[in-house]
Amino acid sequence: MYIFKKVDDLQNHLEKLRQAGSTIGFAPTMGALHSGHLSLINAAKSECDISVCSIFVNPTQFNESSDLDKYPRTAGADIDLLTQVENDILFMPPVEEVYPKDLDTTLSLDFGQLANVMEGQFRPGHFDGMAQVVKRLLDIVQPNRLYMGQKDYQQFAIVQNMLKQLESDITIVRCPIIREDDGLAMSSRNVRLTPEFRASAPIIHDMLLKAKDMAANETPQKIMQFAKNLLDIPGYKMEYFDIVDGESLQAFDDFKSVQSAVACVAIWAGDVRLIDNIILK
Ligand code: AMP
Repeated sequence: MYIFKKVDDLQNHLEKLRQAGSTIGFAPTMGALHSGHLSLINAAKSECDISVCSIFVNPTQFNESSDLDKYPRTAGADIDLLTQVENDILFMPPVEEVYPKDLDTTLSLDFGQLANVMEGQFRPGHFDGMAQVVKRLLDIVQPNRLYMGQKDYQQFAIVQNMLKQLESDITIVRCPIIREDDGLAMSSRNVRLTPEFRASAPIIHDMLLKAKDMAANETPQKIMQFAKNLLDIPGYKMEYFDIVDGESLQAFDDFKSVQSAVACVAIWAGDVRLIDNIILK
């Protein structure tokens, strides 16, 4: 695996590959890699000639500096995992390569209601920072295909919308959520759960499965109320459990009125914030 820290070095290498006709699949990450991330690399490898993974803990998308400080950083183990899955190129730049002083990387795109609900409500500024770094990384890597996880459903919808607004040729691919055996969605933050919270956290996925069952007969309002009651457990603090249109991310009253629907949840397990979702329709 080639490892680059500098934009110029990566771009020189990629340019040669592109000239030789290779297609490039790109999976941006913040490291502390797990099987969910590796599934993106595997998808990129199966559909493109070259897989590129980036590891960059993006300061502009953290609205709390303590969250940024506590974010796990495991570069050595990440390199081992990427080598095992035969990833071709790893880009792990320092902050000044992504945000050089003489380059204006701010984005002036408006994601409208997509960015105001759910994560947007509880993490102000998060999506502006996320879109800024994804756009910057896409400008650097210039991939044919971009691989992102359904785990961050709203993030995916916003990046998809960004590519549309930019009239980009990049194909965005949504990869399914990879879970632990007990159903907990894999996340870099899971390592910070206490043994007690780790043992009880699969309730989040159980709840989502129950919501999917209920969607056949109940209204979104009934399901959301049921979920909120069920997840009202000591030590846990729910930020939202929303059932929304899978495209617009807006609430609706009747499953018959939408083409697609998704249930999204964010919940604090002690001091660890977990998100998960399930496609209902
Ligand atoms: P992160 O490192 O958390 O920024 O995630 C990088 C990419 O991996 C994003 O596109 C995530 O949606 C995706 N991802 C994270 N966790 C999972 C998972 N459990 N299953 C599938 N994709 C995931």
